[in-house]
Amino acid sequence: MSHIFPRNSRASLPVIDRGEGVYLVDSTGKRYLDGSGGAAVSCLGHSDAAVNAAIKAQLDRVAFAHTGFFTSDPAERLADALIAHAPAGLERVYLVSGGSEAVEAALKLARQYALETGQPARHRVIARRQSYHGNTLGALATGGNMWRREPFAPLMIETTHIAPCYAYRGQDPGESAAEYGQRVANELEAEILRLGPETVLAFVAEPVVGATLGAVPAVDGYFRRIREICDTYGVLLILDEVMCGMGRTGTLFACTQDGIAPDILTIAKGLGAGYQPVGAMLCSAAIHDAIAAGSGFFQHGHTYMGHPVAAAAALAVLGRLTDDGLVERAQTMGARLRTALQTAFCQHPHIGDIRGRGLFLGLELVADRETKQPFDPARKLHARLKAAAFEAGLICYPMGGTIDGRQGDHVLLAPPFILEDAHIDEMVTRLGTALAQSL
Ligand code: PLP
Repeated sequence: MSHIFPRNSRASLPVIDRGEGVYLVDSTGKRYLDGSGGAAVSCLGHSDAAVNAAIKAQLDRVAFAHTGFFTSDPAERLADALIAHAPAGLERVYLVSGGSEAVEAALKLARQYALETGQPARHRVIARRQSYHGNTLGALATGGNMWRREPFAPLMIETTHIAPCYAYRGQDPGESAAEYGQRVANELEAEILRLGPETVLAFVAEPVVGATLGAVPAVDGYFRRIREICDTYGVLLILDEVMCGMGRTGTLFACTQDGIAPDILTIAKGLGAGYQPVGAMLCSAAIHDAIAAGSGFFQHGHTYMGHPVAAAAALAVLGRLTDDGLVERAQTMGARLRTALQTAFCQHPHIGDIRGRGLFLGLELVADRETKQPFDPARKLHARLKAAAFEAGLICYPMGGTIDGRQGDHVLLAPPFILEDAHIDEMVTRLGTALAQSL
């Protein structure tokens, strides 16, 4: 009997033995093509020599020194390298151990900034329905996945949710993409006015929605209007790139493609690429400087923040992404994967939409392509698809059922950037097999 407290007490899982490039191999020798990098984590695959070497070298120097006493060479170099590549205006880095921690830090930093700049009434957060920002209480409150939030709602900070920018289901017939983008972005302004602008702290969004919708980017112009609204009302813009950042969409930061920079940005997953648990919050000089000139102290912290081994791993990952052309590779291989998916499934009666950016792609499954009618959630299609794909030796990331009262099933593909054309063929074939078995 296992003594590990499992996520699902009824599931019995294979034991992982090793990783080989884009494959994971279990203790029976069965090989799985990692078509989703776990949950969009493993951007470099599973046996990257440069990252392994960086971790080992750092372990041989020092594994841990508390940030209350020391900074470290890898943490300093990682922060410098992130800022060198970050969207304009982001100038400081706060290193943590994962995505939820990065989002918590972002929310608390926003609140402290409001206090230290004489805006104590600002405490309300606005986010979007059908979003996910993590499972700790602040991040969970912000997320718009009602199923996850509901049991813990009494413990949460005050957050309200507006519509996501989800053109496949949201765009009205006869409305252009640009008009749709402005209409949904303007929901933010209406919500700020409804709540009282002087009480609104921040707006939080994923530039490309991952876990809850399956790689849904906003339409062009949406985020530029969002930036404008935030500036008008002094609301901080927090962009959560925990899943879509670190090159996954074909640029190191996804928001670059939307033509804007946030006040605060969160990253994790691809930052450590699975080699170490690490996340980061990047913030503007204005926020940092206000606190530096005020209390001088961000009232937050974790034991393992700025961990030297995690920082060394992340620095090596960033080097692989930027110096070895892997971000560009996410773009080119993403285009090939998308074409392969379109060729294989564009006539499929139950695939309503193929979307995403770079190597961050999603397929939406529908009972009827014409009406976009989703499948009955009782079928648990996403769960059946996940099981059938796993059986066929493909790891993908299906989600769905009833999300916030809306039905839908989708599957997210986010393979390692090192994948080759043969892996694309294998992925599409296995996905086709899994779809046929689960529909
Ligand atoms: N934010 C986004 C957009 C995510 O997709 C996730 C995880 O899936 C998180 C935050 C939480 O990250 P973590 O699971 O590392 O705490």
